[in-house]
Amino acid sequence: MALTPGGQGRYTAGSPLPVFVSVQITVMPESFSDYPSRSPHAPEGKRLRVTELFFSLQGEGNTTGWPTVFVRLTGCPLRCTYCDTSYAFQGGEWWDLDAILTAVAAHEAHYVTVTGGEPLAQKACQDLLTALCDAGYTVSIETSGVLDICGLDPRVVRVMDLKTPASGEVEKNLWSNLDCLRAQDQVKFVLGDRADYDWAVVQVKTHQLAERCEVLFSPAQGTLAPATLADWILADRLPVRFQLQLHKILWGDTPGR
Ligand code: SF4
Repeated sequence: MALTPGGQGRYTAGSPLPVFVSVQITVMPESFSDYPSRSPHAPEGKRLRVTELFFSLQGEGNTTGWPTVFVRLTGCPLRCTYCDTSYAFQGGEWWDLDAILTAVAAHEAHYVTVTGGEPLAQKACQDLLTALCDAGYTVSIETSGVLDICGLDPRVVRVMDLKTPASGEVEKNLWSNLDCLRAQDQVKFVLGDRADYDWAVVQVKTHQLAERCEVLFSPAQGTLAPATLADWILADRLPVRFQLQLHKILWGDTPGR
């Protein structure tokens, strides 16, 4: 429930008190199936297959901890060894853009993250990103780095993986994407072992990644001990940001959190 002057979401200290105060009650969907019409029969190219849409805390990157709406699109052409979202490989439901925007707006958030699967595997993803930017959100995309990011709406923050040898998908990296990273973007390595770490250090230095954008190093869950990775980073004085997935610390592997 939000108590709002003139229908706005918050009050600024020092502003004159309003004569009338309206009370807005927002009913949040409790599950994915509670959302209203999703327009599944919209034409090809105007709809997206969605696995889940939910409101949570951002668990990774430089907006960690901010309340964020996540739109998880269905499908991925990769099969990383450590994948924790294989439930997004198939299934989902068709939504048109308006239905997604309506569902996102219900959560009254500032940040929206489009993720997957591999969200760019669906052509209409680019239209969704632009529509979310047009609606005034701060928008990021989480992408595997194997599909072209250079043509994305420039307002979108790109959080891009570089797949390591232990992922089993290293040969699929689209290296030309590195030329399209900007200061506000982030490149992420999920590391499975010491060989992965050494490989990632070489990539950071060879491609001067830390000068292009923020570089994130994460341990693959259950494979590399977080403290071990932290010690390696400190010993090497690496200009990278160590991160753990906040949502997993809070809620484990629960989908939709
Ligand atoms: S790119 Fe992401 S969603 Fe696809 S298999 Fe790898 S970890 Fe899973």
